[in-house]
Amino acid sequence: MATNAQRYCNELYRRIVERNANEPEFHQTVQEVLSSLVPVLDKNPEYIELGIVERIVEPERQFIFRVPWMDDTGKVRVNRGFRVQFNSAIGPYKGGLRFHPSVNVSIVKFLGFEQTFKNSLTSLPMGGGKGGSDFDPKGKSDAEVMRFCQSYMTELYRYIGPNTDVPAGDLGVGGREIGYLFGQYKRIKGGYENGVLTGKGLTYGGSLARPEATGYGIAYFCQEMMKSKGTSFDGKTVAVSGFGNVTWGTVKKINELGGKVVTLSGPDGYIYDPDGITGEKVEYLLEMRASCRDRVEDYADQYGVMFNPGEKPWGVKVDVVIPCATQNEIIIDDAKKIVSNGVKFVCEGANMPCTNDAIEYFIENGVYLGPSKAANAGGVAVSGLEMSQNSMRLAWSFEEVDVKLKTIMLNIYRSASKAAEDYGYKDNLVVGANIAGFIKVAEAMKAQGSV
Ligand code: GLU
Repeated sequence: MATNAQRYCNELYRRIVERNANEPEFHQTVQEVLSSLVPVLDKNPEYIELGIVERIVEPERQFIFRVPWMDDTGKVRVNRGFRVQFNSAIGPYKGGLRFHPSVNVSIVKFLGFEQTFKNSLTSLPMGGGKGGSDFDPKGKSDAEVMRFCQSYMTELYRYIGPNTDVPAGDLGVGGREIGYLFGQYKRIKGGYENGVLTGKGLTYGGSLARPEATGYGIAYFCQEMMKSKGTSFDGKTVAVSGFGNVTWGTVKKINELGGKVVTLSGPDGYIYDPDGITGEKVEYLLEMRASCRDRVEDYADQYGVMFNPGEKPWGVKVDVVIPCATQNEIIIDDAKKIVSNGVKFVCEGANMPCTNDAIEYFIENGVYLGPSKAANAGGVAVSGLEMSQNSMRLAWSFEEVDVKLKTIMLNIYRSASKAAEDYGYKDNLVVGANIAGFIKVAEAMKAQGSV
């Protein structure tokens, strides 16, 4: 028999789909979170009565704007810019900017919704937001990227600030883009507010270990998952996807922890390197990204390993799987291959890399799954530490930041796993992370009244 909370969530989900048509990624994340919250709402019906669930799924504010820029031939191009300010109950809106042709309202909303819970899990005071543009950095010159970033910021600056909304990077937005965005913000505002963006360069307020943070955090989180089952990375083979910043940090740390990463992927296919991606090969990832070619085949050419065009690495027999590329890169058929290869640990590095049916399949088949909200929170956690350093006008050493990051990841693991156990879902970290992330935001919203 369906409980009140279950009926409420089903009805709310139906209305969300109706009112937000053509936003499949947003529906997907809402469905996943709402289904996890049923046991919490059964115990605490006031979260329904006070409209907290209904408010948490509705962004506080959304902006869509025109971004005109001139290409190197003198032609005017027009892209669409987005920023969604999802939830500010526990701190200023915080979340990255994604530059990729697939960016639309659905993508930005799904990312902003996820970010709200992820940021809550870090235990730092950050609300949820996300933004970006359908601008494609692939094949663009440095000058074109700069002009685009300047135009984008010329509109975005109105909505952001160190105490209101603090963007950072995501796919297609790294140190170079953050530099151009910050330069334009500073020029328009006429003051040095470096806490307005994170992921900055070290010469102007960036934090040591921010580039490594997302990947290191994923490896720390996965290590905790393995430790709780009496094992470790030592001697394990790992299939990783992507080749960008998240993949780079993950591979670096897994190597240190004794694991061997044997795959990488890009939009063109995947590479298999049986000797492991180690040493200078890890740093080659940075070159591939900087080239803006968006091809992983370059790695195969450089190191003479196997390239599999048009395929994902999920059929490769390994011990651990860590998707680090993008949303929905593991669908149900991939999940079946992964399970049949005997994989026991899947840790989500990218945001929402597994479809909901793939997640269910993993859990039903005894795979221990680390959900992205928890596992990849290290990036935004160190962004939070960058904000702290900017406010204090000082800079911590790499080791100081890394120790804090490790502690944060350990605490996220513990709170997700405890919440799962407390609500009768032992070992379901998806449910645990959603519940732990939700409760802090919900309590803050309750204390602040119906705003
Ligand atoms: N884009 C990253 C994420 O998905 C980092 C966001 C940030 O540092 O604000 O969490």
